[in-house]
Amino acid sequence: MERLTGLRTRGPARVATLAAPGSLLDVGLVLTHACNLACAYCYTGEKKRVRMLETVAMQATELAIATARAAQAKLQLTFFGGEPLLEAELLLGIAARARSLADGVPLVMQVTTNGTLLDAALVEQLGALGVHLAISIDGTRAQHEAARPLAGGGSSWETTRHGLALLLATRDRFSFDVVTVVDPGTVHMLGDGARELFDLGVDAITLNANFGGVWGEPELAVLEQQLEVVAALVVAWLRRGRWVRVQPLESALRSFAETGRVVTSSCGAGSRRIAIAPSGRIYGCCRAVGEDDGKGALGHLDDGFPEPRASGAGCACANAEETGNPRLAGAAQLRHDRAVERVSLRLATLLSAEYELLHIVERGPRP
Ligand code: SF4
Repeated sequence: MERLTGLRTRGPARVATLAAPGSLLDVGLVLTHACNLACAYCYTGEKKRVRMLETVAMQATELAIATARAAQAKLQLTFFGGEPLLEAELLLGIAARARSLADGVPLVMQVTTNGTLLDAALVEQLGALGVHLAISIDGTRAQHEAARPLAGGGSSWETTRHGLALLLATRDRFSFDVVTVVDPGTVHMLGDGARELFDLGVDAITLNANFGGVWGEPELAVLEQQLEVVAALVVAWLRRGRWVRVQPLESALRSFAETGRVVTSSCGAGSRRIAIAPSGRIYGCCRAVGEDDGKGALGHLDDGFPEPRASGAGCACANAEETGNPRLAGAAQLRHDRAVERVSLRLATLLSAEYELLHIVERGPRP
């Protein structure tokens, strides 16, 4: 294995204000611990029929808006689970309440869903309230079925793809993106999955690495090869006049365009990002809620939002999974980041010769 000494290290821990003027306050609401899927890599803890009460949800929403307003910050409300669309009525009620209360506070809302419970009416309702959808699909059928079965067994492929079809049918009116989990067991299919999704009409994919999986040197090498395949797809589509967005490559390209180098940003957990569990406990992010056993909790909604904490670079939860320390990245993450950096730099060099790079990542291709 390549020695880790000499690898680019992550930045120091930072404290951002929870909501500073012009900044983004990200408040996640974990609407339920239940889910209709049983993904192999799920990090949200035991699936149980515990939902957020409407009173808790409204209290959190009102506090989030008041905090953002007082600080002249933008607000992002993120709906999470379990599967948040098991609580679709609650979600729609919160979203409508947030829209009516925001009144001058810039508000973005997003739901991360497995897509299996979507129907045409729900897509319209979410879209009308301006709730952006992030639908989890692991690329091809083989990739998806390797890790995302229905709870109780069976494939979730058909219902997930039905949900995607509904989003594709309304994409001219409502934006959405696809979240693909990059697992060591299926990383060799990453390029095939991205190709299939782009061919279907998906314009934005977020690649979320499962750092809880077992990443050895062979899998990390394949990861870099597959990121190269994805980067080549981006270039191929760009040359045909279509900018397909891939995270984390796009953030790396933006960083390169703005600063001349690729910098890993902080997840902001506990500083500009918090999440509220059904119990009302507050955590650094939705992923940190887990089974909501209180471990790592930053406070409780009844006591208001907590004082911001220092957050390290990268994902605090992934850090904790690998090293036991939320501020310390492990070897797999550092190798992943280095692969992203190398692929992004090659991509940036290629694109810079043909396009205005910053213009591409902000608005689309322009030679
Ligand atoms: S859909 Fe999400 S919450 Fe449900 S099992 Fe899969 S990863 Fe976990």
